[in-house]
Amino acid sequence: MASYDYDLFVIGGGSGGVRAGRVAASLGKKVAIAEEYRYGGTCVIRGCVPKKLFVYASQFPEHFHDAAGFGWRVGESSFDWPTLIANKDKEIDRLEGLYRKGLNNAGAEVIDSRAELVGPHEILLKATGKTVTAERIVVAVGGRPNPHESLPGHELCISSNEAFHLDKLPKAIAIAGGGYIAVEFANIFHGLGVETTLVYRGKEILSRFDRDMREGLHKAMADKGIRILCQSVFSKVEKTEDDRLKATLNDGDELIVDQVMLALGRMPNTENLGLDKAGVTVGKKGEIPVDAYSCTNVPHIYALGDVTDRVQLTPVAIHEAMCFVETVYKDNPTSPDHDLIATAVFSQPEIGTVGMSEEDAAQKFDAVEVYRAEFRPMKATLSGSTEKMIMKIVVNGSDRKVLGVHILGHDAGELVQVLAIALKSGCTKDDFDRTMAVHPTASEELVTMYQPSYRYKNGEKV
Ligand code: NDP
Repeated sequence: MASYDYDLFVIGGGSGGVRAGRVAASLGKKVAIAEEYRYGGTCVIRGCVPKKLFVYASQFPEHFHDAAGFGWRVGESSFDWPTLIANKDKEIDRLEGLYRKGLNNAGAEVIDSRAELVGPHEILLKATGKTVTAERIVVAVGGRPNPHESLPGHELCISSNEAFHLDKLPKAIAIAGGGYIAVEFANIFHGLGVETTLVYRGKEILSRFDRDMREGLHKAMADKGIRILCQSVFSKVEKTEDDRLKATLNDGDELIVDQVMLALGRMPNTENLGLDKAGVTVGKKGEIPVDAYSCTNVPHIYALGDVTDRVQLTPVAIHEAMCFVETVYKDNPTSPDHDLIATAVFSQPEIGTVGMSEEDAAQKFDAVEVYRAEFRPMKATLSGSTEKMIMKIVVNGSDRKVLGVHILGHDAGELVQVLAIALKSGCTKDDFDRTMAVHPTASEELVTMYQPSYRYKNGEKV
């Protein structure tokens, strides 16, 4: 029998890779993990975590404003970007330390190096030039921002990676894209006082979300002063004489800004990884196709997380890693469950969503009931905010099963986490109706909408 240096070698120290490596090591397997940048991956180092810290920072001006209606006089406020960056970096350092510690404590060997495949079981560590072998390999190298190389001047633009490390806060920014990252950063920069323009190619932002959420958020953002240009794309970006940027749009309009940020999706990090040398098939976008157990076409090589381009979300990568460990090291074949994944857009207001949009449900089911409430939350009565909250429950009219819940408003992300448990349990609208309200809360609307607002029959609204 062949003998290897390791039972498992993990390439990539992000959410999926670290979880797979740590748990496998804690089961007594000889594990090594290699990361070329920083442990924690996109989520911890330049994604979800620093983004959420920025979101908090950007919310304060609204809090200061809202306080007046409750009798508070808040003195003159000012914002210091370097303080936010320094404190954020300290927190990210702490979290990276915890990731390393978790791996070390479990007995995994933590390697700071780029790793590339040089054979089916062979991995080259670029930092030392050493080649090691492993019985099994997990590729969890994640993704990176689409650089949009066809855009003249793309090299003058930043992505979310650089947005976390700007030397100074721009006075004006233009952001391309209409997905999670573009929308979240538009809200962050606007909240921090930056003149913000969002440029999106489609008819309405957040193309994969329920229409009410998309339109409701668009209106709320526009009311705050974020300029949103739909059916627009940049045709070129150039430097101006005074060291600013001129972004020209497809209709000839020009935006003069300090930064242009591209948030046009992410690409799998598979270039020069040596996948061909190991015989691993790669898809058209560079993604690694896998079977229901996250196994590539090579039986001892697995791929987890964003590199597989299934669902690009941290908890999904972690879940895929846990399923990998169950399948491979616990003799319990477990395939990841990608159904009913709740998700949030950390805009202001937030979107929290789980399950099918109204539009998808109307296409898929003969009879659909929609329960919808749009209201001004209680806090807004004294704060004077005009922001509305929207809650919507999409129900299958034939068996009363709840197909989707969508919330636009404060803390929608927190709410939808709990709702996801109910939907995962297969709840019906009658379960919502039987549930006592918590009063006074905004979420009590979810259990007090007794009559459908409207219905669909065979795809037609009635
Ligand atoms: P998204 O897929 O969410 O959005 C990409 C956007 O870019 C879409 O609006 C898309 O338009 C647009 N786009 C793509 N290509 C072009 C092009 N050539 N020209 C013009 N527009 C283009 O990707 P993000 O980069 O925002 O985020 C990446 C992933 O990270 C997300 O899918 C999400 O899974 C994850 N994420 C999750 C967050 C969360 O959970 N809160 C936060 C941030 C990221 P169209 O819609 O028309 O295709």
